[in-house]
Amino acid sequence: MEEALFEADQAAIIGEVPIGAVIVHDDHIVGRGHNLREHGNDATMHAEVRAIEEACGTLKSWRLEECQLYVTIEPCLMCSGAIINSRIPEVFYGARDPKAGAVDSLYETLTDTRLNHTVKVHEGLLAKDAGERMVSFFQAARKRQKAAKKARQAAKRAEANKTLDSKNKS
Ligand SMILES: [Zn+2]
Repeated sequence: MEEALFEADQAAIIGEVPIGAVIVHDDHIVGRGHNLREHGNDATMHAEVRAIEEACGTLKSWRLEECQLYVTIEPCLMCSGAIINSRIPEVFYGARDPKAGAVDSLYETLTDTRLNHTVKVHEGLLAKDAGERMVSFFQAARKRQKAAKKARQAAKRAEANKTLDSKNKS
């Protein structure tokens, strides 16, 4: 999970939502990824999907039956689907995602016995570290938005004053 957190930090450094994932096979990391939605202009570039793609490439198989996936935040519907489709038997995740989590929060996709594959789920691994990264990321993003708004307003005022000035002169 430390490695997944490292991936989350790689996302944060480039301004992406800080979520990271790694896939382990025989005690070796065979796939890793972090969220790249903005840079890739691609809604499917979540950490888990990236890690699954890499692991399938490394193991030359779409079946990840002897792997464990570690991810810092509870997987969403898309990623839960990818986990099921790649037959990953065991998932460890950090903090819950009350708005998009599809493992425990909103849905329980990985443990739904109506599906042909169910997953052993462990939650709460380094949850505090994973959650804190999300909180500080979104706090900083809000701050940036506020600052940008202020700058736009100041520019508008300056522009208005300029027009006023030139009118007074003529
Ligand atoms: Zn996802």
